[in-house]
Amino acid sequence: MTMETSMKTVGTIADVQDVLSTVRTQGKKVGFVPTMGNLHDGHLSLVREAKKRCDYVVVSIYVNQLQFGPNEDYDSYPRTFEEDQELLVQEGVDLLFTPTSHEIYPEGAEHHTVVRVDALDGMHCGSSRPGFFTGIATIVCKLFNILRPDVAVFGEKDFQQLAIIRKMVEDLCMPIEVVGAPIARADSGLALSSRNGYLTADERNAAALLYQVISEAREQILAGERNYDAIHRDGFVKLARAGFKPDYFNIVDRHTLQPATLKDDKLVILAAAMLGRARLIDNVQLDI
Ligand code: AMP
Repeated sequence: MTMETSMKTVGTIADVQDVLSTVRTQGKKVGFVPTMGNLHDGHLSLVREAKKRCDYVVVSIYVNQLQFGPNEDYDSYPRTFEEDQELLVQEGVDLLFTPTSHEIYPEGAEHHTVVRVDALDGMHCGSSRPGFFTGIATIVCKLFNILRPDVAVFGEKDFQQLAIIRKMVEDLCMPIEVVGAPIARADSGLALSSRNGYLTADERNAAALLYQVISEAREQILAGERNYDAIHRDGFVKLARAGFKPDYFNIVDRHTLQPATLKDDKLVILAAAMLGRARLIDNVQLDI
């Protein structure tokens, strides 16, 4: 198959900045989609969103060691560069930035300056994965400074991550419009994720239950139930019974990510659970 090959792939900061300075002199609006690769339809939906809003779209693929804990899957994280590159060409991406670790952390990640978004970090994924969001805020800040995009698109799948990026951008006066894109799901309802590849066929069938349990909680709240503690406990029990090891199942205010009170009307139900080797996260939003 002949593919359109106008996408440039560059690996160094100097090269990517060189390309983008020319693009900027042409007055083009630059959109950016950061990823860790192993691309699926969720990532591609962000690319499409960026293309709708911008004249020129940059995607990065970088597996950022700073956001992985010592016992996490940094080494085994799926790396599928060639397939990813082909998908991005097909989507009409203009520029792919794939730096090495040495390019990003030339003196090692340990002594690198970090960005900590304390207000939103100490709960949900942040409490079970210490340092995770500091790693994310740091790499995203660094990529923003390197690329200086006008618009950056993130998935609502990683709801807390999106909230943290928005807060960082606001607090540090970064001149970037942050756009959230809806969760892309498989037909079963399972949110697409690079880590779904860790699931066996049986686990993949079972995994759809995470979305079902969150959706049931949503329906209960929409039907008038306000005992959030009971819904939270119920969610845990249902997931554990189905073979998950639930990490959290929290009904929270969409803006502060603090436990929902009876005064809050814009909510999100955030959940994370281990299933086999995979740590799955998902969420649904609701207005009451
Ligand atoms: P990752 O490669 O997992 O770091 O994800 C890169 C970007 O893709 C992040 O903004 C994620 O929130 C987003 N993303 C991952 N999975 C999905 C999905 N199923 N739907 C929408 N966005 C997603």
